[in-house]
Amino acid sequence: MKKVRKILAATEKHIGGGNYVKSPLPSEFVDQISPFIMLDHFGPAQVTTKKPFYVPPHPHKGFEPVTLLFKGEVLHRDSMGNVGNLKAGDVQWMTAGKGVIHSEGVPADFLEKGGEMELIQLWVNLPRSAKQHEPRYQDLRGENFPLIKEGDAGLKLIAGDYKGQKSGTELLTPVLVMHGRLDKDGKTDIEIPTGYNASVYTLKGKLMTDGFEVTPQHLIWYQEEGTTLSLVATEDSEFVVLSGQPILEPIVNYGPFVMNTRAELVEAIEEYQSGKMGVLEG
Ligand code: MN
Repeated sequence: MKKVRKILAATEKHIGGGNYVKSPLPSEFVDQISPFIMLDHFGPAQVTTKKPFYVPPHPHKGFEPVTLLFKGEVLHRDSMGNVGNLKAGDVQWMTAGKGVIHSEGVPADFLEKGGEMELIQLWVNLPRSAKQHEPRYQDLRGENFPLIKEGDAGLKLIAGDYKGQKSGTELLTPVLVMHGRLDKDGKTDIEIPTGYNASVYTLKGKLMTDGFEVTPQHLIWYQEEGTTLSLVATEDSEFVVLSGQPILEPIVNYGPFVMNTRAELVEAIEEYQSGKMGVLEG
């Protein structure tokens, strides 16, 4: 049974365009839970034309920005010419690789009606061997993720393999990401591959794990020993399991660029400024 290493509370953070999120990673206690280098949680919040959600064009290089949309709609545009419209339950797994510019917002018709929005954005680091990968973009529909019953929990397999089931998400670094639901008084034991880092982000309800009671918007960071995450719900709960094989390489990052050396970072900034990552109108 895995023991808790630390419970990280999400704190408020500005992400540009007047939008605020709650973020438990990175934190003052830990820079990364490799390969996960950032977790931002937006909402649940009402968005309207007066209070839109829009992050204007910005670059990324050297990792994968991943969006899990729980409520509302997201409109994505990027400098590769991709346009994606995510609905509740969908996931966008984007490989920034050698560099891309994108914007993240809400479709105009959704804003006009107004509605509730909630999403998580994860930054999944890439190993040196994949940092120069061609940018690519996977729009993954919620209904296509395998659903797994583990104990009393329902687990949606977003990325990776679990007990013989496979998600169709194409990966460049091994991870296991699942969106879980566990009703009040339910119990589940979730198996994490040996050697993977493991954490659980709480969305709703109340979970007991290793003797700790955890409320929403906390990232439970587990110790390396053991392979079983044991969760008991004391209220109807929702959570995201984030685990993956750690990337044992140095990180040098500045804002949206996550590289291995300072020289690569300077190169990334020059590539962006000289237009090598393409162009995207606001
Ligand atoms: Mn972005």
